[in-house]
Amino acid sequence: MNRIYFDNAATTSIDPQVLDAMMPYLTEKFGNPSSIYSYGREARMAVENSRKSVAKILNAHPSEIFFTSGGTESSNTAITAAVRDLGCKHIITSPIEHHATLHTVQYLESQGLVKVSYVRLLENGHIDLVNLEEMISSSTEKILVTLMHANNEIGNMLDINAVGDLCKKYNAIFHSDTVQTVGHFLFDLKNTYVHFITGSAHKFQGPKGVGLLYINQDIKIKPHIYGGGQERNMRAGTENLYGIIGFAKALELSTKNYDTDSEYIRTLKYYMHDKLKQNIPSVTFNGDTFGKSAYTILSTNFPLTEKSEMLLYNLDINHICVSGGSACASGASQGSHVMQAINNNSNLITVRFSFSKLNTKQEIDMVVAKLKTIL
Ligand code: PLP
Repeated sequence: MNRIYFDNAATTSIDPQVLDAMMPYLTEKFGNPSSIYSYGREARMAVENSRKSVAKILNAHPSEIFFTSGGTESSNTAITAAVRDLGCKHIITSPIEHHATLHTVQYLESQGLVKVSYVRLLENGHIDLVNLEEMISSSTEKILVTLMHANNEIGNMLDINAVGDLCKKYNAIFHSDTVQTVGHFLFDLKNTYVHFITGSAHKFQGPKGVGLLYINQDIKIKPHIYGGGQERNMRAGTENLYGIIGFAKALELSTKNYDTDSEYIRTLKYYMHDKLKQNIPSVTFNGDTFGKSAYTILSTNFPLTEKSEMLLYNLDINHICVSGGSACASGASQGSHVMQAINNNSNLITVRFSFSKLNTKQEIDMVVAKLKTIL
């Protein structure tokens, strides 16, 4: 049996066209972008063209685009800079953010640098915008709002414009972890009130270890890595040349094919939902599955029984790759903080299915049939 990969929110395979674009920069075009001879200048040109391309796709200015090592670094940088350089003394976030956000916020709080408030969630896992406005409007200190665009475990999507408007109204700094949406959503940053967004190439058929930090040009922060002055003095260190080429190429491809791919992937998500309901009536779903939700993610629960207890393991030995929630906790099996915050039901086993354009309905049929035999 071939492997069935339904864990695309954890990571994706690299698109062959992305690999083709990267390859020359791993071989003959290996120059250091800071070198002044032609090899170096060619590499510099490639990095800057990638930056321009990414900026154009996101409707941002190239000077607002910084390449990093991934989503984690980008969120750490944005949140820390908002406190250190922009005077934010109060962070408003949610209990269902990725650990790249939560652990950064908790560290800053432990150092006595900020006060942290967690916005209330609605029953379907969405952020309660009324509660958010109450919190922002009643704070006497400069606020950083950090809320993710699409939740990586349940798929719920934030109304980024509504939150941006609130931040604008109360003059708050706004960071959004957009790791699950860059490459899967058409951003229009010039017309969105947001100061920082993040991205990670491996979530949209690009390479691992390269990310994006968008910093709105209206704000100025200090360098977060000191050294040779790369990335316009913001993040020193020789650029991840082939990674940056791969990031831009993957974003170009995902944007070019957005309409057809997003439609196709959404069809897979809905198909799996329907097939599960038909075949395993005890299944339930987390989040706003058919509403404001990432088209890539379907979060399910199965009642905890002797059989379902070993579900992930049994799927694994049948070559089916899914995850219990997020894959970001280095394989840790302790309960997900997201599921604890939204339903806190220890009698359920949560399985996240997340899809890419490479998946098929036939694979879904095979997985549902296998689930039926396991459960
Ligand atoms: N934020 C979200 C929502 C994610 O899903 C992930 C990755 O799993 C990250 C941040 C971290 O990104 P990276 O793996 O590029 O550091």
